[in-house]
This record gives sequence, structure tokens and C-alpha cells, in this order.
Amino acid sequence: MKIKPKLTLGIGVMFLMILLLTVLSVIYINRLRRDTANILVDNYKTLDYSRQMLQSLNAGIRQHQHAAIFEKNLYLQEKNVTEEGEHYLTIKLAADYERLKLNFADSTVFESVSRDITDIMLVNMQAIARKSTLADHTSKDGILWLSLCGTVSFLAAFVMLVNLPGNIADPIRELTESIKQIASQNYAERLHFNNRSEFGELAAAFNTMAKKLQEYKEGNLEKIMIEKTRIETLINNMNDPVIGLDESKKILFMNSTALKISGLDAAEVSGKYIQDVAVHNDLIRSLVQDLFQTDNYIANKNPIKIYADNKESYFEKEIIPIKIIPTGETEEKLIGNVILLQNITPYKELDFAKTSFIATVSHELKTPISSIKMSLHLLENGELGTINDGQRSLLDSIEEDAERLLKITGELLNMTQVESGTIQLSAFPSDPLDIFKYAIQANKTAAEQKGISLELSTPQELPMVVADSEKTAWVLTNLISNAIRYSYENSVVRLQISSSGEKILFSVKDTGQGIPPEYLKKVFDRYFRVPGTKKEGTGLGLSISKEFIEAEGGNITVTSEYGAGTTFTVTLNKA
Ligand code: ATP
Ligand code: MG
Repeated sequence: MKIKPKLTLGIGVMFLMILLLTVLSVIYINRLRRDTANILVDNYKTLDYSRQMLQSLNAGIRQHQHAAIFEKNLYLQEKNVTEEGEHYLTIKLAADYERLKLNFADSTVFESVSRDITDIMLVNMQAIARKSTLADHTSKDGILWLSLCGTVSFLAAFVMLVNLPGNIADPIRELTESIKQIASQNYAERLHFNNRSEFGELAAAFNTMAKKLQEYKEGNLEKIMIEKTRIETLINNMNDPVIGLDESKKILFMNSTALKISGLDAAEVSGKYIQDVAVHNDLIRSLVQDLFQTDNYIANKNPIKIYADNKESYFEKEIIPIKIIPTGETEEKLIGNVILLQNITPYKELDFAKTSFIATVSHELKTPISSIKMSLHLLENGELGTINDGQRSLLDSIEEDAERLLKITGELLNMTQVESGTIQLSAFPSDPLDIFKYAIQANKTAAEQKGISLELSTPQELPMVVADSEKTAWVLTNLISNAIRYSYENSVVRLQISSSGEKILFSVKDTGQGIPPEYLKKVFDRYFRVPGTKKEGTGLGLSISKEFIEAEGGNITVTSEYGAGTTFTVTLNKA
């Protein structure tokens, strides 16, 4: 049975029982009251009248006052006839009394009156006895029915008291337990309420939910396993080495390429701390040093050279931190790292080929360009015949182009040195002023052509600087030539040498167009030219300058106010 009708029925039965008990009690108490009230009122009165009539009869009815009492009581008795036969007896008494009044001395009539009175008393006493028996019956009936009804109510209430709370509370308790099991992922949990109450429906719904969750979990697990295998196969078949670490830097996996280049065996690395493996393995050590040095894993961008499989290979390393936001949380959590090595050997080989090609070509071009310049000189000198103005201007422009070609081949040659890491340095203590003056001299004509004045300021005494004079002069020449090239006609380029601490600073400051802030960092990149810059130039000057100065242990910086001018500063060590 369902809970709602069960409760309604239980409470309804109790209600009916209480109603029945109340009605029964009222009925029986009423009956008893009526029975006893009859006894008390009517019969008692008759007995009282009769007693007074007998008294006055015996006291001497002839006397007026006794007769009056008799008549008064007779009158009252006539009004109080209740029993069967009493009416007849009362009429008879009244008639006999009338006869007695005619002759008080008639003893037969006297006795007749006296008997009438006692008869009336007898009838009433019998009535009292009968009514008392009736009241007794009524009360016995009442007790019987009330106890019967009370017992049945008690039994019904007792049965409900024993069963009903358990009937409701037990399934709720069982349900709570099962929900806890589900919450702790025990999806095999089932409820077994077989009755057809609401709890039965609840159990069926709960079991369906548990079954679905179980299916979902198992389905998911299977899917995850397939995905895991797929990803593992994928990683293992990658040509690039991959190493996976957990948050405590234990090795989770190393793909076959990673194992091959490091000469390690899968069994000897899995589950080990990477630092323990690094102790015995140079390659792993060089791979993970960034991981232990800084928190933000800015990996060293220089390619790693590895000798494996009888050849040299180049790899670019990337350390990817794996961060997740766990379910129910808000903060990101690091759960491990993946070390990726990208094999860049083919690109490196191409790069080498390109550099050596450029080096060869630039070198080969230098001789013919120099001989063009020499031939131009001979022509210009007029030793091979006089030349007219038109021819001279043509010769001038040929010379300018030859000069530019020579500069470009020189820069390209320098760049090949930088790229192949073969910068030939000969750094000695030198006079900074000499170096600067050489650079100024080289730019003199260009400055004059644009009406730009080069203003040099130096302190009285200058310490020597450790520098490769030729390369430093090349750098400064380049900076001054940029300043002239990228500033307006008739402006001033200020050149300054200063000393600060253990350093010597060379600065070149122009009042030209300046460099937009977003490009400031890029001007030292190879082949970079600020978009919109006039066509001349290769974009190599500053990048070579940076390499040269850094090779000498110094550095080069730039500050610029867009539209107002630029300052380049070269810092080198004092001798
Ligand atoms: P080259 O190889 O002949 O020197 P380039 O001058 O274009 O060519 P860099 O000297 O490397 O190359 O300079 C790179 C770019 O930086 C230039 O193209 C120019 O846009 C910008 N730049 C350099 N110096 C200045 C300067 N003083 N004022 C404004 N822009 C400059
Ligand atoms: Mg330049």
C-alpha cells in the first residue's frame, strides 16, 4: 500500500475510533442518567407522598390538619403517576379516601385506604428495583461496549505505533546509506524496496540512476583507456623526442626517440625522478637544468647539439608546464611538465649551406668590385684620355654603386662570421678617442653632403678601453652612418665618449625621425628595417654590431623618442 493512503487510513481509523468511543460514552452516560433520574425523581416522590399520607392517616385523619396533609399529598400523587397500575391504584385510593371521609369510623374503608397506599408504595418500590436492574444492565452494557471499542482502538493504535514509524523511517535510512555509497563512487549499490509504495517507485528510480552512472563510468573508463593507448602510440611514433614528468618531476614516459638519443632504457627510467637519471646522463642533465633553475621555465633557446646514430643532430628544446584547474576548484594547479625536443637538423644543415654560400659569393665578389673601383680611379684620373662632364657624372654614380656593393659584401661577410660563430677577435687596450675619430672620418663626406655636423665631446682624460679597434670602429661607423641616414638635413649628430665605473660608453645621438617604440627591440634583428624606411641598406648593420660588441664583452642599447631622435650607446670594458 502507498504511504499516503496508509497514513490517511491509520489516522482515519484512530479518528473513527475516538469518534465511536465518544459517541458510545455519550449514549451510555445519557442512558444511565435517564434511568437513575427516573428512580430518583418520580418514584422517590411517590414514596415520600405515600409515607406522609400513611403518617397523617395513622396520626388521626379525623383531625383537620392531618386530613389537610393527606389531601395535599394525595393531590401531588395524582400528578405524579408514572408506573403501570399506579394510575388505577391512585384513583382507587382517592375513591376510598372519599368513602372514609363519609365515615371515619369505618375500619374496612380505613384498611382499604391504608392498603391502597402500601400498594402504591409497592408498585413504586418494584419500579425502583426494576429500574435499578435496568441501570445496572445499561452500565454493564456501556462498560462492555466501551471496553470492547477501547481494546480494539488500543490494538489498532498499538499496531500503528509499532509499524508506521519504521515503515517510513527504515526506507529513508536505507536510501541515505545508498546515496552515500553512490557519492563515494560505489555505483554497484542498489535499493531493494519491493513494496508498491512510493518508496518502491523511489527505489526503482534510484536503481536506474545507479545503473546509468555505472554504465557511464565503465563506458568512460574504456574510452579513456582507448584514448590513452592512442596518445601513447602517437607519442611513441613521433620522430621528435618527448619526455613527460609529473608534478614531483618523476618520469611518466619517454618516447622511443627520446630513449634512443639519450641511450637509456624504458625500464631504467620509468617512475624515477628525472634528477636521479640526470646524474648519470649528460643529455638529460642539459635538458632539465632549466627546470630546476627558474620557476617560469624560460628555456635556453640555443639549439642542443646531440651526437647520436653516428651523426650530429640539432634539437630545439621546449618545456611545457601542464596546468589544470581541478574539478570544483578555482586555482590553477601544476600537474607536471612535458619536455619536447624538435629535430632541427635539416634546417641547420640548410642554414650552414646558406651561410657558406653567402660567404663564398661575398668573398668572390670582393675582388671584381675592387678592380672595378681601381679601373674607375684610372678613368677619373684622366690617364686614359680626357672625360667630359656627362661621362664624369656617370663615373661618379658607378663609383657610388661600387662603394655600396663593397659595403654590402663586407656586411654579408661579417654576418657569415657571426652566423658560423667564427668571429675573429683581437681585443687589446686601445684609445677610445682614436676609434671614434676613425669612425667619424669614415662618415665625413656623407655628413657634409647632408649638411649635418658631427659634434664630438669627450672628457679631458680618458682611460683605455679593451676592444678590437677594427670591429669597434666598424660598429661606430655603422651607428654614425645610420644617424646621418635617418636624420634630417642640416641637423646635428652628437657623439660622446664617457666613462662610468669600469665601463667606457660611446654614444651617438641624432635628432632625426626616431624609432616607433614597438620596433625598438627589433632593430637588432637580422634583416629588420623599420617599415617605411627608405630603400637603401640591408638591415644587417645593427645585428652585426650587436654580435661584435657582445663578442668583446660589451653591450649595445638604444633609446628613442619617436619623432625627436635616437640615441645608440655602446658600452665596453675599461682596460
Ligand atoms: P645597413 O645594413 O646598410 O646598415 P640599415 O641601416 O637599414 O641597413 P640597420 O643599421 O641594422 O640596417 O638598422 C635597422 C633599421 O633600424 C633601419 O632600417 C632603420 O629603420 C632603423 N634605424 C637604425 N638607426 C636609426 C636611427 N638612428 N634613427 C632612426 N631609425 C634607425
Ligand atoms: Mg645601418
